[in-house]
Amino acid sequence: MAVKDVVLYPDRRLKEVCAPAWEAHLAGALDIQQVAQDLIETMRSFPGCVGIAAPQIGELVRMAVVDATGHPKAKSCAGLTVLVDPVIEESDGRVKMREGCLSIPDLTGNVHRVKTVRVRYRDLAGESQVLEADAFEARIILHEMDHLDGILFLDRVASAKDVFARKTYR
Ligand SMILES: [Zn+2]
Repeated sequence: MAVKDVVLYPDRRLKEVCAPAWEAHLAGALDIQQVAQDLIETMRSFPGCVGIAAPQIGELVRMAVVDATGHPKAKSCAGLTVLVDPVIEESDGRVKMREGCLSIPDLTGNVHRVKTVRVRYRDLAGESQVLEADAFEARIILHEMDHLDGILFLDRVASAKDVFARKTYR
């Protein structure tokens, strides 16, 4: 367990489509508990950080951690949640919101996304779980799930006018 270095844009690892995690875990090729702990500790090493995906710590597998706890913009909040092999089952609405990313520390961007999601995922015991999220929490989940397909928020901004400089994040 450790705080890992965050992979920074434009590292090619951020553009990869990540491999299924549970399958790799069963095959003995991946310790999902370890990856989960590393994700949680790395996320928590950045005050205010609400989510991180496995490729951001160099693990190219379909895992992410989200935690909207205490965030003023959160409506739904499931607390700290480790998502293994998450899949969107349903989504609705459309809303534009400002996003940042640990891997792109100098920029933020306005991104359109759906407003509500139902996500099916495995927990760390491999059990199938469902999470319904709204507003800010849905936004975090969608942002982190994008990372698992090699998509960054910069890929989703409508124009250069939707990208802004950020003085400090780290
Ligand atoms: Zn990100």
